[in-house]
Order: sequence, then structure tokens, then C-alpha cells
Amino acid sequence: MHVQGIQDDNDNNVGTKVTAEVNINDAEKLKKGLYGTCIECKQPRSHYQWCQPCERKQCEKKIKNWTSGDKKIDAFLRDAQYNSTRPQTFLEWIPFDKLENILDIKSENKTSTIYSAIWKDGPRIWNQQNEIHERIKTEVIIKLNKDKNDDVQIKEILNELKIYLDCHTQESALLIQFYGISKHPVSNDYFIVKQFHKNASPLTDYISHNFNNLNWEMKLHLLLYLSEDLKALHNAGYVHRYYKNPSSILVVNESYCAIETFLECKALPLYTDEMDGWYSYKAPEILVRQPYTKASDIYSFGMIMHAIGTGKIPPYYFPSRFNHFSRSMSYDICFGLRPHIPDNVPKSFKNLVERCWNTEPDSRPNIHEVHNTLLNLWTSIYHNKYSTSLNLMYLEFIAADNNKDYSKPNSQEMITKKAENGNLEPLEMITKRAESNDQIY
Ligand SMILES: [Zn+2]
Repeated sequence: MHVQGIQDDNDNNVGTKVTAEVNINDAEKLKKGLYGTCIECKQPRSHYQWCQPCERKQCEKKIKNWTSGDKKIDAFLRDAQYNSTRPQTFLEWIPFDKLENILDIKSENKTSTIYSAIWKDGPRIWNQQNEIHERIKTEVIIKLNKDKNDDVQIKEILNELKIYLDCHTQESALLIQFYGISKHPVSNDYFIVKQFHKNASPLTDYISHNFNNLNWEMKLHLLLYLSEDLKALHNAGYVHRYYKNPSSILVVNESYCAIETFLECKALPLYTDEMDGWYSYKAPEILVRQPYTKASDIYSFGMIMHAIGTGKIPPYYFPSRFNHFSRSMSYDICFGLRPHIPDNVPKSFKNLVERCWNTEPDSRPNIHEVHNTLLNLWTSIYHNKYSTSLNLMYLEFIAADNNKDYSKPNSQEMITKKAENGNLEPLEMITKRAESNDQIY
């Protein structure tokens, strides 16, 4: 019996080994099919346009050819290059003399200015025909910070790049590509170099100039891409703490919405109660100093859906002559005040917005559900364009396209839902809020 048992085990091991070999071969075949074979080492590529073993060899060869002058930055970039699995995660040190035609395009605020520049060498672009990476001169975006010491600048830059890399481990395709880090030779300021999109504008500007040209297919497409970015961020374990300001969302080629910067993002769990930005976009629990959660991001995503759906920025009518968010409005939001959704907004869209706005964070959908719902809504319009079999959802969106008047004089908002249910007690929230002496903007 004992011998038989050993033989059985051995047989099982052999069987397992064979099965494993079959699986490896299958995996290799899959890789060959998906990503092709490296022309250097003749092995299947680890990713489209990328052979990690060959890239690592190149990285080791060139490691002594460059330095940023700062040990932390050198270590970070070398680690990023060595572990890179695709072109988007290959971050480089870009000497300042490789940048030219630097033009001031936006003074963001008192502490930072955004410039466009030409990166003379450019990022590595895949040449499909020759199956090699080539460098092509490229226009880029750089942001110079002022009034921050080196340590703070380096910490912020490395933190933002780490979040960017972490999001790329989630198999999601972030729209804005980051290229690396550079340093101004006179001011000694460090800055991130990233992709420049000629046809890009902040969401607020885009809505104010183009809202009447948007149909529902376009609106859903913008939101679908924004939900893709937020999904990558949430999957990687971060919250965006949206939307410090809707201007931090970029509309690219009038087709995609993208997260422009990860500077404000934080890893979970968060214990801080720090708060700034546009209060009217923040969830009730944030207004009473609860820590940010993914559910708080979902509430803000609902506000962005409202902005794109109705064109209303800011979302509330401000009765005060100072035109700002008042303390009493904060209380009202905790009691269930939400922006008005006009009757001609499609019901399926309205339902999703209202679910994102639920006073109880646990009752809001997660980003996967939001993304799937948006995908279904967009697909219902996109595919029916080419089909004669119209569905009711499609008809509702078409009807909404023909009736675009979302204006409503004086009062844009209304109480959409009283917060009488759930664990979050409005009275308790307001008492807590009243104890705080912080200014509300
Ligand atoms: Zn190779």
C-alpha cells in the first residue's frame, strides 16, 4: 500500500508537471499571439512593444550615463525603468537643455505655472515596421512650482509619479502619459514632463464653450473615459479627493475626459480631515470632516455627471451677493439638498447620478458599477445608430438631444432626497460641522 501510495504521488507529480508544461506553452503561445516575438532575444514579448529582459539589459548598460544629481530621483527612475512593463511606464531623466521653445501657457495659481516645450529627443516611439523604438521630437507639458524647497518638490513629484505607475499596474490605459523629470538650471526647480495635447481644455472651459454642441453620445463618451481613469486609481488603492476643482479634469480632442494630475490623490486608508477645493462638489460626509473614501469620490463623480449632463457649473444657485458656497448650504447638503436635474435628462442617466449622490456612502455604487452602467448607456446609443431596431433607452437619449433647454431661472437646486435613512444622521453631522470654525468657500 505504501509503495503504491508513493507511485500514486509520483504519478500525480508527473501529471501535474505535464499539465504545467502545457499551461506554460499555452501562455507562451498566447503571448506570441498577443505581443509578438522580440527580434533581439527571440522570446515572446512581455507586452505590446515591450520585451522586459532586453529592456532591463539596456537599462543596466545605460545606468551610469545619466544622473539627476539627486539620489532619491535617480533611485526612483532607475527602479521605474528596470521594472517597466510597457512604454507608458518607462520614466526618464530629461536634461533641461533637451527642452526648447518653452512657452508660458497657463499661470495655474501663485505657486505654479504651466509651460509647453519641445523635447528635442522626444519619447521612445515604437516603429511597427522595423520593430524598434525610435525617438521623435515631441511637444510636452511642464509645470514649474515656485516657493517650494527641493525636498518638498521632490517628494511631491515622486509621489505623483508613483501613483501614476501604480495605476498602470491595473491594466488600465490612463490617457495622459508622463515622460519623466527635469530640473531648471537657474531656479533649480524640479518638474514633471508629460504629454501635451494640442486640442485639450479644462472641463469647466469646455462646458462653457461647447455645451450646446454636445449630444448624449458625446457626453457619455466623455464620462466613460473619466470613469476608466478613476477605476484605475481606485483599483490601485487611491482616492482622487475629487474634484478639487472641475478644472483639474481635462477634455481631450472633444472626446475623452482625463484626470490631469495625481497631485491631490492619496493612498487609502485616509485618516486626515483636510479639506479644500470646491465645496459644492464634495460629499456630505466630507463637509463634516469625515475622511475621504472611494464613496466620496463617487459622490463627486455624480457632480461631474451633472455638470456634463446639464452644463451647470457651479451646480447650485448661490443666493448670496458674494456668490459663494455658504455654511447654511453645507447644512442643506447634509439634509439632502442636491442640484436640480431637469425633466428632459434621460431617466437612466438621472438614476445613476442620484445613486452616486446618496447621503449614505455605503449605498452609492462603486466605480466598476458606474463604469459598466455608463458603458451600457453609451453602447445603447452608439450601436443603435447603425441599426433599425431602436430600443427605448436610445429613443429617450435622442429625445433629450432634441430638447436641450436645461435652464431654470433662479433656483437650480431642489431637495432630491431627505437623508432620513441610513447610519448617517444629518443632525449629528450638522452639530459636528457647527463645532468647526473653518471657513467655507
Ligand atoms: Zn528581447
